[in-house]
Amino acid sequence: MTEQLTETLDELARELDRAHVFHSWSAQSQASSLVVASGRGARVWDHSGREYLDFSSQLVNVNIGHQHPAVVQAIREQAELLTTIAPSTVNLARGEAAKRIVSHAPAGFHKVFFTNGGADANENAIRMARLHTGRDKILSTYRSYHGNTGAAVVATGDWRRVPNEFARGHVHFFGPYLYRSEFWATTPEEESERALRHLRRVIEAEGPSSIAAILLETIPGTAGIMLPPPGYLAGVRELADRHGILLILDEVMCGFGRSGRWFAFDGYGVRPDLITFAKGVNSGYVPAGGVIISDPIAATFDDRVFPGGLTYSGHPLAMASIVATLDTMASEGIVDNARDIGEIQIGPALAELAGKHAVIGEVRGEGVFWAMELVADRDTREPLPAASMGRLKSALVERGLLPFVQDNRIHVVPPCVVTPEEVADAVAIYDEVLSTAL
Ligand code: PLP
Repeated sequence: MTEQLTETLDELARELDRAHVFHSWSAQSQASSLVVASGRGARVWDHSGREYLDFSSQLVNVNIGHQHPAVVQAIREQAELLTTIAPSTVNLARGEAAKRIVSHAPAGFHKVFFTNGGADANENAIRMARLHTGRDKILSTYRSYHGNTGAAVVATGDWRRVPNEFARGHVHFFGPYLYRSEFWATTPEEESERALRHLRRVIEAEGPSSIAAILLETIPGTAGIMLPPPGYLAGVRELADRHGILLILDEVMCGFGRSGRWFAFDGYGVRPDLITFAKGVNSGYVPAGGVIISDPIAATFDDRVFPGGLTYSGHPLAMASIVATLDTMASEGIVDNARDIGEIQIGPALAELAGKHAVIGEVRGEGVFWAMELVADRDTREPLPAASMGRLKSALVERGLLPFVQDNRIHVVPPCVVTPEEVADAVAIYDEVLSTAL
């Protein structure tokens, strides 16, 4: 094996990867061969120094940018002190991290249950909702992704939803998506009203007293960055309240700055009962996620054992990185940067691209959370075929841009620290590729 390995580190990385690494969500023969060896801010490099603008934020998680020195330093300092500790012990970094997280949540949230990522956050939120309500069913939308563990992947509504005999009581419904409305709506208001009527019918048909929670991504992410239309989330909250159903908002992708706000739901005037998070909370520098628990649900477990836990819950390196990430995002105005650059530059620039390229059917988003939906025909809205999307993706990478491509969409999701110059460079690359690579 060793003799066959080629000289450069990039080639060595590819060789080892092909030989030994089993990749997620991919036929192994089609796994990417792109090497990323180092990063800084919104840029990454391979070993030979080839530079890429990271407009994927990896899996839409590097909100603070790559290798922020304050976070790297905090991890280093914590590593010198203590690198692992059981969740049952008391640790200052854990308390500090939880305090920072709840400081961004609405009033009435004081406790955080830490997990290793987003899927297990949803898993535990579902369990809490069931134990708190004594009910079983969980309603979630078809166009959603909630993670890849037992109940989370069944709650997921997109193509990754898999049958799982251990995950019970999951029901799916259609959320709002005006561009491809299931309800024949032509305005956001109509879409909102009709999607709510549909949800009301699903609740009635399932039996309200059997439903523990409605689980929603505040802004569905991987499914297409569909901003909820006016009144939708408030209407869901009202339906839930009417029937004693809990509302779990999954902020794993849209939380901690991505939408231009600390939490995406801050822009929609709703207050959930449970909030799940991961990704942006520490930009994935160390795996971490969790559930932020409202006081009445937390109180359920004051004198009753919560049957759940993880060896690495509240891991010290993760906790130190959360404290440093959230403090730095606040002191450097990083969430405001995401909001402003989305409003002032990304939104208008993508709208201009849509004016120029008929293949762009719709542009939507906010903050650093945008989608360009590509179509073969603007009138029929037929999605651009997979082969064309593949060509676009390769052309973007060739020109030095790491894209997030999903189905017939390019998601424009750079780190929250992205600069105006980097956005301008990226937009020029999208423009060129849309002109030449189709
Ligand atoms: N929820 C949402 C909205 C996500 O986007 C993801 C991952 O992309 C998850 C949950 C699962 O998170 P993880 O991959 O950390 O388990």
